[in-house]
Amino acid sequence: MTSPEVVDLLTRTDMVILPIGSLEQHGLQGPIGTDTLGVIERGKLIAQKTDVLVAPILYPGNSPYHMAFPGTITLPAETIQLVYFQAAQSLLAHGFKRFLILNGHAGNAATVQYLVDRINQETAGMAVELDDAAQPFRTGAARPGSVFDRHAGVSETSRSLYLTPNLVNMSVARTAPLTLLPHLQKILPEVAAGDPTATRVFLAEALKAASTGKGTSTKDMTETGVWSALDVKTATAERGRTETEASVNAAVAFIERWKQLRPLGTK
Ligand SMILES: [Zn+2]
Repeated sequence: MTSPEVVDLLTRTDMVILPIGSLEQHGLQGPIGTDTLGVIERGKLIAQKTDVLVAPILYPGNSPYHMAFPGTITLPAETIQLVYFQAAQSLLAHGFKRFLILNGHAGNAATVQYLVDRINQETAGMAVELDDAAQPFRTGAARPGSVFDRHAGVSETSRSLYLTPNLVNMSVARTAPLTLLPHLQKILPEVAAGDPTATRVFLAEALKAASTGKGTSTKDMTETGVWSALDVKTATAERGRTETEASVNAAVAFIERWKQLRPLGTK
């Protein structure tokens, strides 16, 4: 967008989406920038349906547990929150008041919560984590969790095939057998089934930097970087479209509701 276009947009909205992703390996098939490129595209799809600025700030996120895979770039949570907080101050100076943090990387979750709280507590702006705020607007049954399928797996690769199709190389896609520590392997079926306690303790231990000594970095658990029990070759753009549209529509519904609850120009 041009600066005059931003001025024009400010007559219709005070909302801005701040996408946040990561630069980390995504298996043999996906680009390093999968999370960031995907979350920017998703932000744009939301902005096509409701007036809101999309302002990408950073490409890298917090990904220390992927560092065994070359190309991964990780920044400390402290740095990320500070850069986004300072960027929010620039946008506040131009008249944007409401910040929708759109997170494309689970490893940023705590950083995003802190950023949201800082904006709310320390500035004239108001912030929410968009997918979290949109959760009550999700329609249809949640996908039943019965198989383990996480990082660079079938779901994520499907979304990449929909959002950034020219960057995914399915001819080399390959799921490696999971090589989890025995006690984690043992509770995997409960995690896959969505047991909340099993999932909580599993994620407290799994997918952590090699420096923690836990033996749960991505490389420890999967040789290709695909962290899934499914064959990643079964990913499809059609599934990616369905999943993306569900999240986009819910986000738009939340934004419209916030616009009703707090009309533009409210002091
Ligand atoms: Zn990802």
